[in-house]
Amino acid sequence: MNAHDPRDPLSCFASLEVDHVAIAVPSLDEALKFWRDQLGAEVLEFEDVPSQQVRVAFLSTGASKTELLEPTSPDSPIAKFLAQGRKGLHHVAYRVPDIEAALLRLRERGARLIHETPIPGSRNTRVAFVHPGSAQGVLIELVEHCQEGPR
Ligand code: ZN
Repeated sequence: MNAHDPRDPLSCFASLEVDHVAIAVPSLDEALKFWRDQLGAEVLEFEDVPSQQVRVAFLSTGASKTELLEPTSPDSPIAKFLAQGRKGLHHVAYRVPDIEAALLRLRERGARLIHETPIPGSRNTRVAFVHPGSAQGVLIELVEHCQEGPR
């Protein structure tokens, strides 16, 4: 099997690494008092992500980023998460080189997907979520970075 074949079940996760860890917060301003002001993490950027109805703060924490998520609408998945009395770790995101191949592999192997096809993510990415029921209760995001220079 060709090592670069995107259909190769091994190659689609060959460079699997943590892209970011996402934390649900009611207020970015409040959360940044810890992450930025006390812990000292640099804020790389703020971004509104309409597809998820969230405002995001990306923090520089090495090769893997930390993402703080504030809901911008009561319909946001983050608003619903917070309304359940939950907060803190929301999801772990893994970077994959070919998100369609990764979704195909997961589907073929019986994983429960929230998104059958990728949706637009933040920072010029395409993303898809895997149901926490397939990952020991942890919501998993797959992230493919579109080729458009470094960000
Ligand atoms: Zn994320």
